[in-house]
Amino acid sequence: MIRNKKMDKEKMRQSNLFLILRILKERGSLSKTDLSKITKLSLPSVTSIINELEEYNLISLLGQAPIKRGRFPIKYKLNSNALYIIGVTIQSESIKCVIINLNGDIQHYLSIPLPTNHEPAYVLDKVSNLVQKVIAESGINQSKILGIGVGMHGIVDPINGVAIYPPHLGWEHIPLSEILEDKLNLPVLVDNDCNVLTLAERWFGKCINSDSFIVMNVDYGVGSGIMVSGNLFHGTNYGGGQIGHLTVSENGPKCSCGNFGCLETLVNENALLNGINKKLKQGFNSVLVSLMDNGISLKDIYVAATKEDQLSIQTLEEAGRYLGVGVSSLVNLFNPQQIILTGSVLVGEEFITIPLKDTVNKTALKTNTKNLKIETSDLGDKADVIGAATLWVDSLFNGHLQIDDYFSKEGIM
Ligand SMILES: [Zn+2]
Repeated sequence: MIRNKKMDKEKMRQSNLFLILRILKERGSLSKTDLSKITKLSLPSVTSIINELEEYNLISLLGQAPIKRGRFPIKYKLNSNALYIIGVTIQSESIKCVIINLNGDIQHYLSIPLPTNHEPAYVLDKVSNLVQKVIAESGINQSKILGIGVGMHGIVDPINGVAIYPPHLGWEHIPLSEILEDKLNLPVLVDNDCNVLTLAERWFGKCINSDSFIVMNVDYGVGSGIMVSGNLFHGTNYGGGQIGHLTVSENGPKCSCGNFGCLETLVNENALLNGINKKLKQGFNSVLVSLMDNGISLKDIYVAATKEDQLSIQTLEEAGRYLGVGVSSLVNLFNPQQIILTGSVLVGEEFITIPLKDTVNKTALKTNTKNLKIETSDLGDKADVIGAATLWVDSLFNGHLQIDDYFSKEGIM
């Protein structure tokens, strides 16, 4: 009984400690009185937590403004460079690695093409070498690195750190965390690539003040990350959010999942390029004809669309309408506050986003579209790899880490 009371008290101490850390992360610099008002904790409790966070080197004094009369409260701020985090993504074309501080500021970044040899041991050797290179070139001491976050495409078991099925690599049940922890001697968290993009928006993007939103990613595949009441929704077998496999055209092309006409087969990067090439061969009039011999890129289609090339405009608008059907389903099912669109096919492209929004407004339930915001991400092309590192940011500020396991009073262990 006494032991339970002790454990409860310890749990409460940890929870308050992370609460204050999180408030300082989200609101910038604050005084002890501010923190006491926000948290409803007594001033002596706040003082005790502040002292402890200072001992852990997780916060620092902002200084005291010089004034002539009266006392000016001392403010505290999160020490963003108290520790660093590594992010890694293993995608269908490349392996990326970044090191960020607690503010998400990039300290160093490198990427390599995905090797043609997809053997797990071979690929993970490459990952390990890349991480070691990023650490060495950043000049950051490994003892200041909290951990490694990995964003992996396909189905991922985040509890056990296992890549269950990444289709582009053809792996099955590869224990990613275990293998990389052995190689790199740092703790590893793993999650699906769409889920890490969702965490990136939650901590560094457009959803900082939102705990109910969905990120839809469209590039070589189509997927979504779903944040419900501040928690990622994974699904029983970690297959939640697979909006790319929503059937939108029963007679459509065959999908990698074995079905026909999945959303992904109609709007991913290859679908758009194949669709354009097919129509050009059929004799459709377009400025893109002159580019056919060298291969047409997605960018070529967007440039042509801005020059009022009708084939390009129609292709993008059709993709927008199909994606609108997918977003509409998500909006009806989860009733989120925000939808964030990201990925090579979607970022900032009004030719797709306007028909997408029109379709959602026409087809989703009115109760669910009221006050709904549909926006494109502004995190740029490193959102995925920053998001992977954010697996640790999320764990830290949500109080999921045992502080004594990770930190010594002189700083990180
Ligand atoms: Zn499918």
